[in-house]
Amino acid sequence: MSTVFDTLDELRRQAEECRECPLSTTRNRVVFGFGDPCANLMFVGEAPGRNEDLRGEPFVGAAGKFFDELLRSIHLDRSDVYITNLLKCRPPGNRNPTPAEIAACANLLRRQVALVHPKILVTLGNFSTRFVLKTTETITKQRGIPQHKGFLTVIPVYHPAAAIYDVTKRETLLADFSVIGELLNAERPSSDKEDGCGDLRK
Ligand code: URA
Repeated sequence: MSTVFDTLDELRRQAEECRECPLSTTRNRVVFGFGDPCANLMFVGEAPGRNEDLRGEPFVGAAGKFFDELLRSIHLDRSDVYITNLLKCRPPGNRNPTPAEIAACANLLRRQVALVHPKILVTLGNFSTRFVLKTTETITKQRGIPQHKGFLTVIPVYHPAAAIYDVTKRETLLADFSVIGELLNAERPSSDKEDGCGDLRK
């Protein structure tokens, strides 16, 4: 995947034809991403689950319901942000992504981040946090601590699925989202972006 992509739509088309790893043989749909292509705030989850694989959209199952609640807690909905996953295809049985699958999918995520060019990148859970921050630390150690990486402020938080049956993690996630909301409010609206994101990326 060395082609240069000028728009997210072109990158999406490339992803939909991807055969770089065996998940392409078991997927129903490629789950590329959803939301505002010029968002200041971008989220990276782990991988599509069963519902996402059927619908072709990230975070539409049980974890997605809680994710929407977290967004609402900072007065946003999913059309205000950009949401994607580390893997674009579902690992069968919702098993963990393998290092080979992550490597095969990595360029898609890199290109997506470059095209959306968010100010804040939130990594959801261990896998996307370790990939983006190039660390082996656990999410428990890293969560809630903003880190600067190139043009991005990266904030790792727990994966919403980990909080469904865990009240403590739920409260921690709500607190971390409150910090995300404050950081976002300190940024200018995406329409003021200096790099002219807009027509070119839609
Ligand atoms: N979990 C994820 O990490 N991503 C999804 O899209 C759904 C569940």
